[in-house]
Amino acid sequence: MRRKIAAGNWKMNGTSAALAELAAMAADLPKEPPKVVICPPAPLLFRAVEATRTTGISIGAQDCHMQASGAFTGDISAEMVADTGAAYVIVGHSERRDAHEETNADVRNKAEAAHAAGLTPIICIGEALEDREANNTLDIIGGQLAGSLPDDVSASNTVVAYEPIWAIGTGKVPSLEQIVEVHDYIRAELVHRYGNTIGNAVPLLYGGSVKADNAALIFEAENVDGALVGGASLKAADFIPIVAAL
Ligand code: PGA
Repeated sequence: MRRKIAAGNWKMNGTSAALAELAAMAADLPKEPPKVVICPPAPLLFRAVEATRTTGISIGAQDCHMQASGAFTGDISAEMVADTGAAYVIVGHSERRDAHEETNADVRNKAEAAHAAGLTPIICIGEALEDREANNTLDIIGGQLAGSLPDDVSASNTVVAYEPIWAIGTGKVPSLEQIVEVHDYIRAELVHRYGNTIGNAVPLLYGGSVKADNAALIFEAENVDGALVGGASLKAADFIPIVAAL
């Protein structure tokens, strides 16, 4: 049985007042699986870890730098993220690949930095609308997997999130067949690269406009082990039903 994970990416949303939503989630979510991971903005990490210490919720950052330390004004190292008590870090989100021009090699280096700091990277991949329309989805995904995933992936140290760019924040969701096709392909690629035991154990999340009313259908896919949720993770009332559907 693979680990089931419901992860929330708050993006650049939330000041300390948003900690009340974390408290509301903690009050309503069971401590048992699925694993719930909330990734608030960096200034909230310490307090979010404090607020969830005795709950089943883990905290993650939304990015980390690939270097351990140095002259990188405004950046945050994986070690700094780990020092807050956070256990996860999103790397390679399409908004970072796009707005910060992060390459597959950058993402891989960040994932390696995360591993070195004892964090679990949630490594994001996903095709643009042009790629899908040109029937290049699996080629793009294959290239991102080959380039963004480090060699030291284990059953417990990495999570992969498939997020079609055109589905993020748009309310557009791929059909179940499209999700199944990509997730089955990712699973096969993981098995090919890392072998049966590891390849079959790495959790695969779907992300892009996951809401309470479509989560159950998406979770029907055998190789969907959970979700990376943006907008619908900001409010406990929206996020709790998604977790419950897993
Ligand atoms: P969304 O974002 O759920 O708001 O579409 C998902 C993500 O970017 O991780």
